[in-house]
Amino acid sequence: MMIQEEIVIVGGGIAGLATALALKRVGFQARVLERNTELRAGGSALTLAPNAWFALRALGIDDKLKPLYQPIQESLVTNLDSGAIQEAKFAGTQDNSENAGVRSVHRKALLEALAEELPPDAIRFSSKLISIKSETLQDSSKVTVLHLEDGTVIQAKVVIGCDGVHSAVAQWLGLSQPLNSGRWAVRGLAVYPEGHGLDHGVKQYLSGGTRAGALTINSKEIYWFVVTYSSLERDISTNPELLLEEVSKNLAKGFPSEFLNVVKHTDRSSLSWVPLLFRAPWNIAFGNVYSGGVTVAGDAMHPMTPDLGQGGCSALEDAVILARCISQAHLTAATDRHWLEKALKRYVEARRWRVTWLVAGAWFAGWVQQGGGGGQEWWSVLARWFRDRFYYPFILPRTRNLIWCDSGDLILSDKRD
Ligand SMILES: Cc1cc2nc3c(=O)[nH]c(=O)nc-3n(C[C@H](O)[C@H](O)[C@H](O)COP(=O)(O)OP(=O)(O)OC[C@H]3O[C@@H](n4cnc5c(N)ncnc54)[C@H](O)[C@@H]3O)c2cc1C
Repeated sequence: MMIQEEIVIVGGGIAGLATALALKRVGFQARVLERNTELRAGGSALTLAPNAWFALRALGIDDKLKPLYQPIQESLVTNLDSGAIQEAKFAGTQDNSENAGVRSVHRKALLEALAEELPPDAIRFSSKLISIKSETLQDSSKVTVLHLEDGTVIQAKVVIGCDGVHSAVAQWLGLSQPLNSGRWAVRGLAVYPEGHGLDHGVKQYLSGGTRAGALTINSKEIYWFVVTYSSLERDISTNPELLLEEVSKNLAKGFPSEFLNVVKHTDRSSLSWVPLLFRAPWNIAFGNVYSGGVTVAGDAMHPMTPDLGQGGCSALEDAVILARCISQAHLTAATDRHWLEKALKRYVEARRWRVTWLVAGAWFAGWVQQGGGGGQEWWSVLARWFRDRFYYPFILPRTRNLIWCDSGDLILSDKRD
């Protein structure tokens, strides 16, 4: 079966759905291809910083989510090795027009809020992309031809790869494979039907090369994580009971009972264990992030370690800026047959350096926060000294506003005629 589409988005995660919605807001209809049979949200929850809320406001769905999730006002970091506690206030997290707060949000709620705004047939499930090629038509215009696993062939003018960290579209563009940071994360959602009774906020714990955290989502749920350099001796990643045992008896052994108690309350179906991957920043800065009518967004473009909590937030930024570039370039469509390519070029120019710095910054933040590996080598000792003296007290508070960026940039122009 051969289908023709104007804009195809590969992948129905945060980036894919947000991009489809941003395009809808400026008057373009896109088809989203998702390999799964339904929307899937691995990882249960994520933290959305002000930049994400500005993007969600541009998409018109921030008011759906904000009443469900209260802003977090502060984060406490306890160094279990020294006993020192550092307190970080999230400056300006008041929910007003200038700032939108930092909130932990269910991933599923975010995906559903995005999907609900799309036309019913916008997402084509069970549609796995298996190959891409570029073809020149008789009138010398170019199209991209997508082959799906079910035999469907789609001809599209624009293809936006939002297919995650192992993106087939990024590979076709020639971007390098993601690198392994050498660290792993276990995440879960603890559920307390009668309420957990803890204050709303973030508590982090550091010990050697391990970092753990618990973030309240609401009065009954807490999202927790453990990030470590230690690798598992056997593959227990798909066995929730063994994974929980590994966390409490090994990875977070000796951590405060308050944290271990949260781990005990984990909903087994929410557990996940992932290697932390990132793309080499110079590959994003200088690599082929678009070609003709093909580009990438979200993790497909800039997979990053989660240490700044910006992967999903920056995917939402991508969506708004890509849609804005397409709608602005469309104004010249009558006179310029290359308007679409120019729109993608402008999008990549607008995003490239911001996400390059985010990827590099996230890697550095992870390395420093986890004590440079936690060993006794001079660089690990230096990383811990830097973390305790400079990173938490000075650098993190001062760089937050840069990372969370200005709301003025994340707006959409009017719909096309
Ligand atoms: C431990 C951890 C904690 C994190 N915490 C945060 C946080 O607090 N805040 C934050 O902002 N970010 C966080 N992130 C990052 C965030 O999870 C990602 O950046 C975000 O999910 C990326 O969304 P995406 O849509 O680009 O990719 P994905 O969510 O991976 O979605 C890709 C979609 O494409 C589909 N797909 C893939 N290949 C194909 C194909 N060939 N054909 C069709 N469909 C395909 C997949 O099924 C999937 O639905 C964290 C990441 C990790 C690992």
